[in-house]
Amino acid sequence: MIQEPYLICRATSARYSTNEPRWRADGGGLLDLEWTPRLDPARVHSRPATLWRYREALPVRMDEHIVTLGEGFTPLVVDDLLGRRVHLKLESLFPTGSYKDRGASVLVSKTRELGVRRVVEDSSGNAGAAIAAYCARAGIECDIYVPASASSAKKSQIACFGANLHAIEGSREDVSRAVLHAAESVYYASHVWNPYFFHGTKTFAYEVVEQLGWRSPDAIVLPAGNGTLLIGTYLGLRELLAAGIISKPPRLIAVQAAGCAPLHARWSGREMEIQPTIAEGVAIAAPARTDQCIEAVRETGGAIVAVSEEQIRDAHALALRRGYCIEPTSATAIAALRHEARAVETVVVALTGHGLKSPEKLSAKS
Ligand SMILES: *Cc1c(COP(=O)(O)O)cnc(C)c1O
Repeated sequence: MIQEPYLICRATSARYSTNEPRWRADGGGLLDLEWTPRLDPARVHSRPATLWRYREALPVRMDEHIVTLGEGFTPLVVDDLLGRRVHLKLESLFPTGSYKDRGASVLVSKTRELGVRRVVEDSSGNAGAAIAAYCARAGIECDIYVPASASSAKKSQIACFGANLHAIEGSREDVSRAVLHAAESVYYASHVWNPYFFHGTKTFAYEVVEQLGWRSPDAIVLPAGNGTLLIGTYLGLRELLAAGIISKPPRLIAVQAAGCAPLHARWSGREMEIQPTIAEGVAIAAPARTDQCIEAVRETGGAIVAVSEEQIRDAHALALRRGYCIEPTSATAIAALRHEARAVETVVVALTGHGLKSPEKLSAKS
């Protein structure tokens, strides 16, 4: 590491050391990790096909602290969908079935490096399963808070890794309140608050660029709720630009379900209405890092799109009929292709989660 990384409060610019287990600023503000890693692409080729091949860009000091299940370097498959050529990044093919393993591997590695023995996390399912699996691998005890209404396959997945599962009655906000109370005394391995998670999800950008021959695509289409993939991808692209590996970032197209689309409302200046949606993984009414989501889209010349339930169902059925076993949340990105992708350009679409995460939604017609 060339420059010593530090944590910085987004609200006050207060700085903190990376040697203490801290997930928010003293005043309660969100933290980012300030650091400009340098990666030499020539050194990457001969390394194993996991996200740890970008070792110099991952903020864990000692190799012995790395917690890995061989995650990452997911396939980038070319296909023709909805009348156009696309590159599909199969993020459903992770150890726990979603790209959240990117963030969990890096965050739990750093947690182990800090000597933390116990963590808490909350999620609608996939982030909780990822943190639970990597904590199991690291021998770290964890408590995962989920809404009682979360899909039963996701709850079983969290519990099977030995995590203490807390199914909270009430709204998603009630779950947040419960975990924030627990986080007063235990390290919060949050996929939204904890800055190390984003230094894992950023490897999505590194992989896409490497798989295209160290070239940037023209656009990347991905689902967004809290924006953990969106913000991570933008972070990775900024690092690749700073290192001179790419010269122009792709347009980031963030996709929301129209039933719960606060980022889209902010982007387009419209009112938001909340309705139930099949895209449970991105149904976040008040994303904590909204400003960063908007910045990622604006700075890349991208867009925020909302797709209807009918469009999500159609896109899900289309994906399944072509052999891609994905969950409905992931189909939002395919649905957005109709709106946003321009005719002749390289477009990457993130297929974020495995279909077996919600087996009841895999009916023949979807
Ligand atoms: C987490 C997740 C997303 C993106 O959600 P964010 O709230 O933006 O982090 C998309 N698809 C799936 C399957 C997910 O688990």
